Amino acid sequence: MTLSLNIDTRAWRANVKAVHDEFPGLVPVAKGNGYGFGLDVLAREAARMNDDCIAVGIAQEVAVVRAAGWSRDVVVLNPWRPFDPVATALLEDPGVISTISRLEDLDEVSRSHPRARVLVEIRTSMNRHGITAEEIASVGLGSLTFEGWSLHFPPTGVLAEAQQLASAAVAQQRGAVWVSHLNALDYRRLRTHLGVRTRMRMGTRLWMGEPTALTTTATVLDVHRTSRGSRHGYHQMRASRDGWIVVVSGGTAHGVALAAPPSQKSLRSRGVTVAQGMLDAVGMSLSPFTVAGKKRPFAEPPHMHASMLFVGGAEPGVKVGDEVPVTCRLTTTTFDELRWN
Ligand SMILES: *Cc1c(COP(=O)(O)O)cnc(C)c1O
Repeated sequence: MTLSLNIDTRAWRANVKAVHDEFPGLVPVAKGNGYGFGLDVLAREAARMNDDCIAVGIAQEVAVVRAAGWSRDVVVLNPWRPFDPVATALLEDPGVISTISRLEDLDEVSRSHPRARVLVEIRTSMNRHGITAEEIASVGLGSLTFEGWSLHFPPTGVLAEAQQLASAAVAQQRGAVWVSHLNALDYRRLRTHLGVRTRMRMGTRLWMGEPTALTTTATVLDVHRTSRGSRHGYHQMRASRDGWIVVVSGGTAHGVALAAPPSQKSLRSRGVTVAQGMLDAVGMSLSPFTVAGKKRPFAEPPHMHASMLFVGGAEPGVKVGDEVPVTCRLTTTTFDELRWN
């Protein structure tokens, strides 16, 4: 009765291992919903790989990976801010490395927690967090424990930018350079160019880089006949034609039908938006569930743990207990169960 993430354990771990081999100094990222696996699972896999350090997104996630048994270093990726008491308490934790992204914060932390372990983040073309290239020369670390420089790039990883920013940083203060989203070749080039230790933070490619190793399925919980004009669901909508109501596991609690807005960059994604809009106009929304080989519309908006689908025609093509494919965005889905096959 579950929404399941099915893992081909051998193929999945083979990818995790291959990525480690390809990126020396790899720091696994375990943040948010743990890329569908959960932070506890990812922390245990990092321990299995004998990693020396794991990266979490926010201060609150440190306790989660600790509870899962992770005892080595943890880097907090979200930069420290003076108004975050949880992040501030971690400045005293000898196993935690905090990220500092503004000169004023660096001043404050070096005064309030002079021995804290810190990374200094530099602003890249992402323009998210970090001190600017011009500010690098003003970085003073006092007696802080400097763990290195941190740079976060867009997924198209830009070697020239990485080399330029990191060279300026290392010239100001020698230390490791922590990066994201460079390909293996550029990562190696950067290390050779800088002559310091490099650390690659990675989540998506590490945990989701072998898509054939991961399938997501829902269970058919009920199948009922319906006819044109008959009502169903909380909203008592009418079936537009004869067919079947198929109830499957997976609802709002799992993040089903929850989509991040598309970037609208490609014409294709705009086309999909238009098609969805047309379905919406007739009161039907295409669901992510595949029944009898086709994605089926929701009969009504998803419920907490289940969804009602409409399958037209003489036969529903599924029976209670069947497993059906469901398209999930792993970073927005909470699974009931992980099945390690
Ligand atoms: C999330 C994050 C990463 C990992 O990104 P992926 O695309 O999942 O590999 C690396 N660095 C920072 C700063 C992040 O926030």
